[in-house]
Amino acid sequence: MTTSRVYLSVGSNIGDRRQYLKQAITQLKQNAAIEIVRVSSIYETQPVGGVKQDDFLNIAVALQTSLAPLELLDYLHQIEQILHRKRLIHWGPRTIDLDILYFDDLVSQDKTLTLPHPEIKNRLFVLIPMKEITTDDPKILHQIETMISETSDHNMVQKYNSGGESN
Ligand code: ADP
Ligand code: MG
Repeated sequence: MTTSRVYLSVGSNIGDRRQYLKQAITQLKQNAAIEIVRVSSIYETQPVGGVKQDDFLNIAVALQTSLAPLELLDYLHQIEQILHRKRLIHWGPRTIDLDILYFDDLVSQDKTLTLPHPEIKNRLFVLIPMKEITTDDPKILHQIETMISETSDHNMVQKYNSGGESN
């Protein structure tokens, strides 16, 4: 079966952020059409943009999938719903965000699914984890390194030390 190489950015800034990232990975693994290839370290990052809010935890994920782009987007929305629903009980909005950064080398200007994700170059919290997991993908790695050297985003992005929490 032919599968596509996909890169995701996953972030959380409410509640047990680390647990939400972990649950998102668990949900991805539950789909038989998705194979996780690499997961970056967790980074703690300052929010980008004007809204005052807590720091995020962010990861990048490389996967192979037999799903079509909109099928994958739909599945990511389902994961957001599952984790959002839990969140809504205890916390405010926005526990988890799953964005598609690249889907093979597809280019799309569709508002429902813009590819590559238009904000990659403006988000160090996407670029730094992506650099870590694209060492086997020279074309993307080169793009990422160029964007890192040119980005105007200088918000804090540092490896997250969970303080010895268990997995
Ligand atoms: P954001 O990620 O911009 O903070 P949302 O997660 O609420 O906001 O996403 C809003 C919409 O963005 C989604 O409903 C989705 O259809 C659209 N979208 C467009 N391109 C992409 C992409 N590459 N990855 C994920 N969502 C996308
Ligand atoms: Mg999103």
